Amino acid sequence: MNLAELVRYWARWRPDHTAIIHNDNRISWAELDARSDAIARGLRAAGVNKGDRVGLLMTNRPEAPIVTVACLKLGAIFVPLNFRLTGIELLPLLEDAECSAVVTEAKHLAQLELAKRTLPFEIFVADSTDARPYDDLIIDSGAVPVEQIALNDAGFICYTSGTTGRQKGALLTHGSAMYPGMAKNLAEGLTWRDSIMVAVPFVFTGAVISCFIQFAVNAGGTMVLESDFDIDRYIHTIEKYRVSAATTVPVIWERLIRSPDFERADISCMISAAAGGAPVSIDLIEAYKAKGISMIQSYGLTEASGLVATMHSEDAMKRIGWAGRAIFGTEIRIGDADGNTLPFGETGEIMVKGPHVMREYWRKPDITAETIVDDWLKTGDLGAMDEEGFLRIVDRSKDMLISGGINVYPAEIERALAAVPGINELAVIGVPDADWGEVPMLVVCANGDRADVMRAIEKEGETSLAKFKRPKHVAFIDEPLPRTLSGKVSKPTLRASFPQVPE
Ligand code: AMP
Ligand code: MG
Repeated sequence: MNLAELVRYWARWRPDHTAIIHNDNRISWAELDARSDAIARGLRAAGVNKGDRVGLLMTNRPEAPIVTVACLKLGAIFVPLNFRLTGIELLPLLEDAECSAVVTEAKHLAQLELAKRTLPFEIFVADSTDARPYDDLIIDSGAVPVEQIALNDAGFICYTSGTTGRQKGALLTHGSAMYPGMAKNLAEGLTWRDSIMVAVPFVFTGAVISCFIQFAVNAGGTMVLESDFDIDRYIHTIEKYRVSAATTVPVIWERLIRSPDFERADISCMISAAAGGAPVSIDLIEAYKAKGISMIQSYGLTEASGLVATMHSEDAMKRIGWAGRAIFGTEIRIGDADGNTLPFGETGEIMVKGPHVMREYWRKPDITAETIVDDWLKTGDLGAMDEEGFLRIVDRSKDMLISGGINVYPAEIERALAAVPGINELAVIGVPDADWGEVPMLVVCANGDRADVMRAIEKEGETSLAKFKRPKHVAFIDEPLPRTLSGKVSKPTLRASFPQVPE
């Protein structure tokens, strides 16, 4: 059964059940099925065929999931594009994917102008405008045939959040994108009765794949789509619709705690509060535990359809800062530089094998061959595993620095210093050093007296960090740390803003 047939399945068996909630409007599974059929016909009339790429540049509105399903029904490859990207940033992606159509909104037309000058794609606009309207895409004449699409046919090209080097599009098939949801929904007991919150841009892999495909489409559940991310609204939406699941980065869960309504709100309806993409602190787990919510940590990456390992909070209490065990059907091992498996406890590259691993980097056979070796995906993340199969993420391999010949993992230093009083946010990067090659530098956004914070950092470093791991430089900044669009601290940006060690 491909993803399009899954949508049809829910439309047939629970036609009136809500598939999407947006601004209090409800779209049922039958409506989602019918509207996506109409769009699929329109896209086909515009010349889109199986295997062609269709871009989506859109804020969170119901058309976003509807167009997604329409593409899947045609066997077209859906390309989510981040609407915060500029024209200059979008051009290489549209060029690489060779999209034949892009569906967007009037407010994003200017961002497409540059690419449109050289590339021959059609633009459809989902709100009122003089450009070719989205209405042209709507051809109501019944269901489109979807049986000809195989589970291993291409479904998505997701550009990874990496900020360095050339853009890479992870090509996910219907089957690979579907798979982690099967594992997760079963493990966490999520069914069609549940609903998932999506307040980050739908076009992020974490939203379109992890939430919409892996939960809503897989389980026939409900996706609550919020247009803007507003922390106070977020908590009210959870209460209002009794939202039972959300998968998001830890910073969002942290911000939620600081919402003035957090104490009062009854969000005990959440049965699956999942935090992925970055390590989770014990304080965060405890804050939610006090509200009756057990936070699920997870580790995943786009190249493995977003999910590799998860850990429930009972285990999290015993293994603070770890990332959990492989989801079923997935194998994890730790490899050395040559890809040989390392013994338990040793740090090396996390390697993943399973049905959710991408097929390839789109049109990049060389990088694909370096990244997937004998069916094992080399994640570029460093980790260690214990005898019971629990995985600890040590750092990204590209963030690691080498100081006096010893590997130093910024993430380890960040964890050790995270609880120092007076610190809002912190990050560690490597900076050049005449004696050691590289040394760790701490960048701090403080809310306390700098001299006090400095003393506290030194004190904590002396008790919990070996000398070579203690930051040799500390830079205080006033603004928040630079983050990628998905909320992770952008180390490349940070490194670029400190080409020289501050005084
Ligand atoms: P992306 O490239 O956007 O798919 O993000 C995936 C990356 O996020 C992984 O390769 C890791 O570097 C990082 N990541 C994901 N989950 C965790 C976690 N639980 N702890 C630390 N880093 C993580
Ligand atoms: Mg990545």
